[in-house]
Amino acid sequence: MKGLVDKPSYIIELLEGGVTLEDIIDGHICEQTLVEKSAFVVGDLGALMRQHVCWQSAAPRLQPYYPVKCNSSPAVIEVLASLGLGFICANKTEVSLVLDHGVPPENIILSGVCKQLAHIKHAAKNNIQHLVCENEAELSKISRLHPGAKLLLQLNTESHAAETSMAFGFSLKSCRHLLEAAKELGVQVVGVTFHIPSSCQDLQQAYTHALSDARCVFDMGVDLGFNMNILDIGGGFTGSEGQLNQVESAVRPLLDAYFPPMSGVQVLAQPGSFYVASAFSLAVNVIGKKVMNRHWDSLTQGVNNEDTEFLYYMNEGVYGPFSRKLLGNCIAAPSVHKHVLCAEEEVFPSSLWGPSLDQLDQVVERCLLPELSVGDWLCFSNMGVCGLEEFSCLSSSPQLPVYYTVSTCDWYEMQEAGVALDSAVKNFSMVR
Ligand SMILES: *Cc1c(COP(=O)(O)O)cnc(C)c1O
Repeated sequence: MKGLVDKPSYIIELLEGGVTLEDIIDGHICEQTLVEKSAFVVGDLGALMRQHVCWQSAAPRLQPYYPVKCNSSPAVIEVLASLGLGFICANKTEVSLVLDHGVPPENIILSGVCKQLAHIKHAAKNNIQHLVCENEAELSKISRLHPGAKLLLQLNTESHAAETSMAFGFSLKSCRHLLEAAKELGVQVVGVTFHIPSSCQDLQQAYTHALSDARCVFDMGVDLGFNMNILDIGGGFTGSEGQLNQVESAVRPLLDAYFPPMSGVQVLAQPGSFYVASAFSLAVNVIGKKVMNRHWDSLTQGVNNEDTEFLYYMNEGVYGPFSRKLLGNCIAAPSVHKHVLCAEEEVFPSSLWGPSLDQLDQVVERCLLPELSVGDWLCFSNMGVCGLEEFSCLSSSPQLPVYYTVSTCDWYEMQEAGVALDSAVKNFSMVR
């Protein structure tokens, strides 16, 4: 197996013909078995490109801007930057990270509705012109520290408010007032941004509301003499092609009606999970096990199998790479490494816990698994939405290793897609 090495601190393993991601995971499990059996992450960079190809063919009018907070690992930023994506940064650190990867400032939007003064100054100094804003206090900060900014007004949507249970963004009612305040302060407004989470039940209705509201804001802005030319429809793309098609077909007729291509309005979206979720898998080790027998059979005093339940403890939990669980997300059941379930094999209700012995540290509430032993490995897929800092700082081990891979086939395609042309990606070199 060859490796691709790049100047920064990570190595990308190139998978040659026939070598699969499972083989890579296998290899690292073998290595870990000889040492501490620590958890590790495997990132398949080819998945980023495959998602990009899918995005471009399904939603050609929606220019993707990647929210850095979804996964800020340098290899991800590297690949997405060289595929030409724009970036949504929530703070100064994220802006610096993206600039360091050679992303032009005009492809960066500083998001976040309440920004620290230093972060606004930093944006001004680095020529980041596009900033998100939703209230007057923010507006006056920006007019003082970054008078040349071009603002995207964050429009509130019901579904977003429902998810965050917080009023977020301005309402249509307060819109004229905000626009007039911007006019008075001499700050430019260039567009509107909103976010409809993927948990939204009625996509059609949510996008209909949001896009007609956005049209109203555009009209008011134009009335006041602003050059309104950016519409950002936010995130809410799970990563599945079917869901992307669903959103796209809800949005397309609305865009055609309210923001037709000839209007010259640039339409952006913020696919975060879409790009990274499927690209990362996490392998963890079972470090503890308890059997719970809910009912004793009174006649035999034996255990009735149906009522046997297993609790397993893993070496990582919600205070590490499963932190998404604390935010109310569900973690899907893992696969058991090197275990092919045969038809007659028994499975048991099982729950999976992190190592902290804390009530909150339950990663998977209930799933059906064959009986596991301490030392077995579990493999969680779709683990890409997670800051790298969570892969490292918060976990029980000081640094969760992340192994990047790409198949030769994907790698050639990535080079054709322009990945190799980016200055930083050129630093990859083959090693034996
Ligand atoms: C996190 C975030 C996104 C992307 O999240 P998805 O999981 O891809 O929907 C988009 N926009 C904003 C404002 C966010 O905070």
